[in-house]
Amino acid sequence: PDPVLQVEDLSIRFQTGRGTVQAVSGVSLAIAPGETLGLVGESGCGKSTLGRAIVRLIEPAGGRIHLAGQDITHVPRHRLRTARRKVQMVFQDPFASLDPRWTVGELIAEPLHIHAVGTREERRARVRELLHKVGLPQDAAERTPHQFSGGQRQRIGIARALALDPEVVVLDEPVSALDLSVQAQILNLLSDLQQALGVAFLFISHDLSVVEYVSDRVAVMYLGRIVELADRETLFRAPAHPYTRALLDAVPRTDGGPHRAAPLAGDLPSPYAPPPGCAFHTRCPMAVAACRTDRPQLRAVGPGHSAACHLAME
Ligand code: SF4
Ligand code: MG
Repeated sequence: PDPVLQVEDLSIRFQTGRGTVQAVSGVSLAIAPGETLGLVGESGCGKSTLGRAIVRLIEPAGGRIHLAGQDITHVPRHRLRTARRKVQMVFQDPFASLDPRWTVGELIAEPLHIHAVGTREERRARVRELLHKVGLPQDAAERTPHQFSGGQRQRIGIARALALDPEVVVLDEPVSALDLSVQAQILNLLSDLQQALGVAFLFISHDLSVVEYVSDRVAVMYLGRIVELADRETLFRAPAHPYTRALLDAVPRTDGGPHRAAPLAGDLPSPYAPPPGCAFHTRCPMAVAACRTDRPQLRAVGPGHSAACHLAME
């Protein structure tokens, strides 16, 4: 099937007091209807920025975003609302920035209000339906979010994101603030909703075990670029990029096998002055001379598998 979301050569820059940051460089990816693409990388690698650009909270400096066949890269402000209906976002703490006096019913109905969907009674019915879908009691609509646990608040955030029947939902660290048992409940809810609604997810997380659990395919980002892209099995069993291998080695093993020393030496380089050549060369245990001068392109190393490393073999 045609991808529901297609990002081509996307670049995002920020001007700050310290200079220009190239937060995202030449990122291309596609997501099929009903698919989950996991997006992993260390904090500060540009994954949230990419997610925000896709939901049009950030204006890209270059490249294209196509949603359901429509180019939404530079839709004029008065038509942005229509484009935004089809792609929604779920944040780590969905209500951190919202008025605490709002009721859950008002919060879930707000996107319907903004887009002038339905009558007042139809919107109430839609809120009841959404509460049911995310496993919350009907009387939740009259209460305020702070009366709910973290996991229940995330259910409210998901209901709000689904209110307009989007084709794509960008989930930015949606379970990172939750206890492990609650994480599992939310991940299972997301998977059930995806089955029922056919919605596609871009699932952003620094947690590889969560990404392995939810994703069909996985993209790995380092300093604003995608360095590896593969289906889940390939990425976790036969990673081609040294950075992906380092991330995987840093995950504590639960099978009792020997734990290799965390190989990710050093800090993420400053995004204000990214290293030349392969941006990972300052931390890569396999770096050769060419890595310091020539930037490796993302290229095919197997079926549906690409990596940006001079040493990655077909
Ligand atoms: Fe390491 Fe060189 Fe590959 Fe970069 S291109 S990941 S520095 S081996
Ligand atoms: Mg982030």
